[in-house]
Amino acid sequence: MNVAERTHANAPAETAAWLERFAKALAANDAQAAATLFIDDGLWRDILAFTWTIETMSGRAAIAARLGETAPRTKAVNFTIPPSRTPPRWVMRAGTQCIEALVAFETKLGRCDGVLRLVPEGGALRAWTLITTMEELKGHEEAFKHRSADDEAGLRDYGGPNWLDRRKAAARYDDHEPTVVVVGAGQAGLSVAARLKQLGIDALIVDRHARVGDNWRKRYHSLTLHNERFVNHLPYMPFPPTWPVYIPKDMLANWFEAYADAVELNVWTGTELARGNYDQTKRRWDLTLRRADGSERVVHPRHLVLATGVSSIPFTPDLPGLKDFAGTVSHSGSFDHPERWKGKKTLVLGTGTSGHDVAQELATVGADVTIIQRSKTYVVSLPEAQSVYAIYKEGIPFEDCDLLATSFPYPVLQRSYQLSTAKSREIDKPLLDALEQRGFRLHFGEDDTGFQMMYLRRGGGYYFNVGCSELIISGAVKLLQFAEIDRFVAQGARLKDGRLVPADLLVLATGYLSQQDSVRHFLGDAIADSIGPVWGFDEGGELRNMWRRTTQPGLWFTAGSLAQCRIFSRYLALQIKAIEEDIIA
Ligand SMILES: Cc1cc2nc3c(=O)[nH]c(=O)nc-3n(C[C@H](O)[C@H](O)[C@H](O)COP(=O)(O)OP(=O)(O)OC[C@H]3O[C@@H](n4cnc5c(N)ncnc54)[C@H](O)[C@@H]3O)c2cc1C
Repeated sequence: MNVAERTHANAPAETAAWLERFAKALAANDAQAAATLFIDDGLWRDILAFTWTIETMSGRAAIAARLGETAPRTKAVNFTIPPSRTPPRWVMRAGTQCIEALVAFETKLGRCDGVLRLVPEGGALRAWTLITTMEELKGHEEAFKHRSADDEAGLRDYGGPNWLDRRKAAARYDDHEPTVVVVGAGQAGLSVAARLKQLGIDALIVDRHARVGDNWRKRYHSLTLHNERFVNHLPYMPFPPTWPVYIPKDMLANWFEAYADAVELNVWTGTELARGNYDQTKRRWDLTLRRADGSERVVHPRHLVLATGVSSIPFTPDLPGLKDFAGTVSHSGSFDHPERWKGKKTLVLGTGTSGHDVAQELATVGADVTIIQRSKTYVVSLPEAQSVYAIYKEGIPFEDCDLLATSFPYPVLQRSYQLSTAKSREIDKPLLDALEQRGFRLHFGEDDTGFQMMYLRRGGGYYFNVGCSELIISGAVKLLQFAEIDRFVAQGARLKDGRLVPADLLVLATGYLSQQDSVRHFLGDAIADSIGPVWGFDEGGELRNMWRRTTQPGLWFTAGSLAQCRIFSRYLALQIKAIEEDIIA
């Protein structure tokens, strides 16, 4: 069959034929034969199903080697095209026409999903990409799936503890230790704790804020989310369809608080992780938790999940003369009440999202604002910024979108972002040209992959324009290049040409220390050095230390967008469950 004859109608049969050959090769423990079903530079990304980690194999040789190692013990069988899912179809992904098929299979241990992309090569259809994911451990399914009234025995006992009494007792940890301590009650911490709860794993979340949701409440006044509502749901409990497209921060904050209660999470607010160390002999942590009143409690969980976000410890660069500045210095993370600066002269250092947003807030309340640009910045209009979530607009079921979202190995992501960035640049051209004319320095990522790769590689460096770019273009927010500054002095910033830019306030929108630095701070140098950097890609194209076992037993990381937290919390929780059930070490 030539390419022209290949249509949607044939896609299921062609997928089934490929799956049959693949299953046959696996059954025969013939990894070489399985690998020849891929194109030469085919990619296989596995999430737990075969490897019990998150890993991408690039090229036939690597695929054959890893399959050879893992397939005999994995025993993957029953490859099917589930009727409940989007059927195999021809689509364009990252500029390549392919059959995209959502598949299911089983292993000895679990129920798994997959996404297969087939492309024509030499008259045959071979796999360009395959992703395999473990979704469920057999015998350890999420509790809600088999819940019956029998499980609720005692809840209606007259004179006995009712639901609320039980919830309070569970959260006190008077007579038991949590199996897992999750630090951080943002989207990352809440998602993984909700998943653990469904797997029957006792987890305690601690957060230094007074209320769940304060991580959003305490952000600047006008904040609304940057992604549309439908990609941002937390596990098990989608936002009401009545909600705004871009959710305001306090609405999200209140939802987080309600969510923790609704999915029955144990949360200690006003409690911070002060320090911890791992007891190798007992294979558990000794964690010191400090309550708001200064009292401390030591707990001994077997697992510690750091969900502290990228904004745990503010980063202040070494700025010449900063100590001489007589005005107020504030970090963007704790900047509030902009109205206090009405009529005052203000400087905002940094042109990422926070810098722009703080500058816009200050300008709106009538402050005199100068934004200082240190490095080139990617600016994208808000509608164009939604392009990375285009899959969610294809009209296919939400669960299918989540699976597809995990299914792009690094080189495909890279190509896909290059294409979408080029398109956005074209659409945003008038905005970008006007910014450049004003002296704003733009860039589009080291390989023109735009904001999403910047986010994944370094967690920032871009701005989704919600109005500040227009203020810069019109001059309502003044622009100063950092390179023009000689040093800060008592009255403001002294420029290299001798001029003074006077200021009463300097807001440092200069980002945060990395999660590796948080580990160093809370858990010490040895663990920080052993695990290495957190976030950013490793040489295999996976995010370093994220949602998978680290070199430190019992230490896990989760972070990222609401979508990433929703999707990857499942895999993190499954690994903890598998360790607790002695399925993996
Ligand atoms: C303007 C704006 C719009 C955005 N829009 C979106 C969007 O539409 N969709 C999206 O997915 N993302 C969006 N983001 C990104 C989002 O803010 C972050 O991705 C998110 O906050 C990360 O969540 P998190 O749970 O990883 O970390 P955080 O929200 O930072 O939460 C970490 C928590 O850990 C706690 N903590 C830290 N250290 C300790 C300690 N030692 N002890 C106890 N507690 C501790 C903190 O108090 C905090 O509550 C947006 C961000 C901004 C600024």
